[in-house]
Amino acid sequence: MSVLIFTENRNGTFPGYIRELVTWGRQLADRMQMQAVVLSPGEVKEETLAGLGKYGAGRVLCVRVPDPDVMDNRFYADVIMKVAEKVHAEIFLFAHSNTGKALAPVIAAKYGAAYVSAVTGIPEQANPFVVRKKIFSGKVFTDIRMKTGKKVMTLAPHAVEAVAAYREVTPEILSVGLDKARITTRRLDVHTSQGKVLLTDANVVVSGGRGMQNPGNFSLLEELAGLLGGAVACTRPVSDEGWRPADEHAGQTGKIIAPDLYFAFGISGAIQHLAGVSSSKVIAAVNTDPDAPIFEAADYGVVADAMTFLPKLIEAVKRRKSP
Ligand SMILES: Cc1cc2nc3c(=O)[nH]c(=O)nc-3n(C[C@H](O)[C@H](O)[C@H](O)COP(=O)(O)OP(=O)(O)OC[C@H]3O[C@@H](n4cnc5c(N)ncnc54)[C@H](O)[C@@H]3O)c2cc1C
Repeated sequence: MSVLIFTENRNGTFPGYIRELVTWGRQLADRMQMQAVVLSPGEVKEETLAGLGKYGAGRVLCVRVPDPDVMDNRFYADVIMKVAEKVHAEIFLFAHSNTGKALAPVIAAKYGAAYVSAVTGIPEQANPFVVRKKIFSGKVFTDIRMKTGKKVMTLAPHAVEAVAAYREVTPEILSVGLDKARITTRRLDVHTSQGKVLLTDANVVVSGGRGMQNPGNFSLLEELAGLLGGAVACTRPVSDEGWRPADEHAGQTGKIIAPDLYFAFGISGAIQHLAGVSSSKVIAAVNTDPDAPIFEAADYGVVADAMTFLPKLIEAVKRRKSP
């Protein structure tokens, strides 16, 4: 029996969270005495596929989909189920990404399997199979028992560190008899914004709240984000006021993000904002109010005026970057 780990790629490379997913899948498989099998659909080079062995994949299977622009979850669900049959998959793991969140419930519904999203911990044992996740905007952990034979989960971002296990694997290209007639949705065109890092992809996010005082001061955040190769985000009141575009608003009603580093400048740390950013690996906050709730969520905190602190930080980053 196996744990089937679905690894989506972006233009032939795996996002960082896929390494976390494979690490977690391997640890779970080891504990359940199953094999960790990676399934990667699409066009990924063999050496990139083999790289997943470094994180402990026992087998790496690749199904070459007929058309790189296929965007059809029912088609991918068919692919997953055909592969699952071949490898006797009992547990299905997905990243908690847009792709994972779309596919995992489909697989669960097809098998009548239990489904838990954004899991944070590995079950201690196979029976009872109990997983942990955060609820109430990340304020509380809950343990959920999954009772069905087959189980489907998505992994919360940064729930585990990607840890090397160094297993040698030779990727296998699988043919599973794809039914092209099942493809009903295709991508026709792609428009990319030039020179801008997508907020949901960014490893570093520089975010501002009402404490930034006025829209002009966000140029400081743009400069810092540019230096760090990151993206700019904001709180909801900031986008409601029209200081920043609505697609930068993070939180319960905005984007859910989990960068490696999240800077919060002039952000109070309301629960609705934290709901969208608290999975960040490291949070650094700058606020004039030492009692601001953001400091409870932050790993690093500075009590300072953002407009005084930011130029100094920008200068320090520039000095660090200059040869
Ligand atoms: C149903 C619902 C959904 C919501 N969804 C979201 C959501 O998705 N995302 C979201 O962000 N909010 C959301 N909100 C709003 C949320 O409750 C807060 O009101 C909002 O996050 C506060 O934004 P803020 O931190 O920018 O502003 P404020 O709460 O006004 O905080 C400003 C902070 O800046 C500090 N400050 C002031 N001057 C400076 C300075 N010069 N330098 C440094 N710090 C300074 C202040 O001490 C303060 O802590 C939602 C609310 C509701 C009711």
